[in-house]
Amino acid sequence: MNNYYRKDKWLIIEDGFHPEMNRESESIFSLGNGYMGQRANFEEQYSGDSLQGTYVAGVYYPDKTRVGWWKNGYPEYFAKVLNTPNWIGIDLSVNGKEVNLSSAKIISFSRILNMKEGYLERSFKIHVSRSKTIEINSRRFISMAETDLGLIKYSVKSVDFEGRLDFGVYLNADVRNEDTNFGKKFWKEVRREVKAGSGYLITKTLKTDFHVATGMNFIFEKDNETIPVTPDIVSREKYISNTFTVSIKPGEECTLYKYVSVLSSLNSPKELLADDLKQRLKEAVAKGYNKLFQDHVEAWENIWSTSDVVIEGDIAAQQAIRFNIFHLNQTYTGKDERLNIGPKGFTGEKYGGCTYWDTEAFGLPFFLKTADQKVGRNLLLYRYKHLEKSVANAEKLGFKNGAALYPMVTMNGEECHNEWEITFEEIHRNGAIAFAVFNYIRHTGDKEYMSDYGLEVLIGISRFWSQRTTYSQNLKKYVILGVTGPNEYENNVNNNWYTNTLAVWTLSYCLQNIEILKVENSGKLKALFEKTNFNYESETSRWKMLISEMYFPFDPKNNIFLQQDGFLDKELMPANEIPADEKPINQHWSWDRILRSCFIKQADVIQGLYFFEDKFDTETIRRNFDFYEPMTVHESSLSACIHSIIASRIGRIEKAYELYLRTARLDLDDYNSEVSDGLHITSMAGTWLAIVEGFGGMRIQDNAIRLNPFIPIKWQSYSFNSRFRGVLFKVKVTKTDVIVNNLSEDALQLIIWGKNYQLEGSENLVVKLQMDFPA
Ligand code: BGC
Repeated sequence: MNNYYRKDKWLIIEDGFHPEMNRESESIFSLGNGYMGQRANFEEQYSGDSLQGTYVAGVYYPDKTRVGWWKNGYPEYFAKVLNTPNWIGIDLSVNGKEVNLSSAKIISFSRILNMKEGYLERSFKIHVSRSKTIEINSRRFISMAETDLGLIKYSVKSVDFEGRLDFGVYLNADVRNEDTNFGKKFWKEVRREVKAGSGYLITKTLKTDFHVATGMNFIFEKDNETIPVTPDIVSREKYISNTFTVSIKPGEECTLYKYVSVLSSLNSPKELLADDLKQRLKEAVAKGYNKLFQDHVEAWENIWSTSDVVIEGDIAAQQAIRFNIFHLNQTYTGKDERLNIGPKGFTGEKYGGCTYWDTEAFGLPFFLKTADQKVGRNLLLYRYKHLEKSVANAEKLGFKNGAALYPMVTMNGEECHNEWEITFEEIHRNGAIAFAVFNYIRHTGDKEYMSDYGLEVLIGISRFWSQRTTYSQNLKKYVILGVTGPNEYENNVNNNWYTNTLAVWTLSYCLQNIEILKVENSGKLKALFEKTNFNYESETSRWKMLISEMYFPFDPKNNIFLQQDGFLDKELMPANEIPADEKPINQHWSWDRILRSCFIKQADVIQGLYFFEDKFDTETIRRNFDFYEPMTVHESSLSACIHSIIASRIGRIEKAYELYLRTARLDLDDYNSEVSDGLHITSMAGTWLAIVEGFGGMRIQDNAIRLNPFIPIKWQSYSFNSRFRGVLFKVKVTKTDVIVNNLSEDALQLIIWGKNYQLEGSENLVVKLQMDFPA
């Protein structure tokens, strides 16, 4: 679907109505504000193919697990984010005939996502009789300023039609999830009230008992004058509506403003929901659509002022990076530590809206660099609060003494995933959570976090690694057996290099921080040891032994780290030999064939080189990249970005750019043919990193920001903002210069091409661009 959406710096534009693309476009044009979100479903009835999706962050249902062959240790349920009551509904009939784009005679249609101002606009013109025409324009936004509010401005203009328009303004809680395991509906009505011009529904989830209150008010205008209407009331279980009829003449325009507030028991006491909702709607109507829109646009202006990336000379790349930044900010705002970043955000049901290692490995670095420190901290606290459940999860699998295995997929800390090769074996996620603590502290300098929370998590994870290793008499080394690395096209392998590397790193990092705390605050350490029942002598000596005696698979012939034991027994061949009509292989090949092949789904050894880049010289990174990149099919959205960063690191500018385009336009061009399910939100963070860490070469080194930038040939310039320990700064790279502006009061330490600079508050620095690469 390359080039389906028109290219523009700030807009995503769909021209013409293509029903076969509707699910894709519903994903692409999704809206959200961290608190709630929705796919770009139509307001009026649509009987064509569509995935209805309206979501409220943190509201989920534990759907009973469905598997063919039950294995002990499987979770009983999969928590999934719920399709919540539909609040966008506006029925429209013209002279008694329903407007439905599936059957309408469409003259023109366009859908626009305005990323700068955060709204979705849909305009279409249809024949309502053989020769008469009306135009419909709907604009909606989910407020970034007042997050419980969603607003719709729905206008119907008659070109040359005279007759009757029937409106039905409704809320509908009789909704379902497409991915339900047993065809169940998850909502029960608690209360409903409707009168002329307003109404609400309070519904609750079965089992989890989340109460969601959805309320609406509306105002009707004709040619910009408010017109009182006397609607008929419809009220039935889980559904309320106001229906009314108006007449329209050629040239006249009717506009309906629908104000919606969505509150949930996550934030308000259940018994107050109805009153709070009425109050919120009253306030919203009093402010009015225009003011609410203006506040919303200002909130987006604020976001863009610190997170925009400007690319000159490449409109496709410019559009793509803004699309990614836009969706990331729509998904997570970091205000609530109970929430997290689902791989699909609010754009679909796939992955259940749950949390994956994606958050720590991809989402966190983006938010650490673009948002206030507390955003990153909340992402960490989310895991800290799940520590107990992770210990229980590990116990369920036979681990003991406080060993923690964080879930592969979770909503509330409990494991939800139920494929043994992932649930039990994809244990590298534990390492990403440990690495996140390190990453947060090196970005923010918030050392207190370590003693207050981080170390406790590291001890739990280290205990897990310690118990998960086995001694191999054969190798006279410690090994980690039966794992799945990030490359999910290999299951149940022994000694995945990435996993072993993470395990050893976690143990060392934890030991190092125990020693630091011993010196800095022995009282706190003592309390932590008591809380965790830590046996200093025996636990630390075992960890030290594991660190020195761990086995790492290595191939001396190619001088590379081996992805896992036995990798070289495979028939090795480059991915470009796979026939084009067999790609993506996960949609064409049997699982058996995939597992036996050498093809790599996503960065695995390369992921390890990315995390621990400091430990390896450029030649080592280059050799491993040259060995693994050709076999990598990048069929996970998390792959191309990491390969792009590493390609930049070793000076492969063209390759880095090619991989960048693939990650940046993954959804807009639907590379892996799966956008209909929703967008790849977590990989969008990787795209941003591919510019900043890849092209910009930005790293943290010796408590300073290091830049080794280059510029892709096609670009005239690019610039990004970033943060480091409270300092906000801007980097611009042109064909000739690197320009850094310190946008804060405090000084910023910089290393550019190996040379140290101190940039005082508000100071600027210009350094000549060097397009070569130091070792
Ligand atoms: C990837 C995982 C990832 C998950 C959710 C899978 O396809 O292989 O690494 O966690 O998607 O994004």
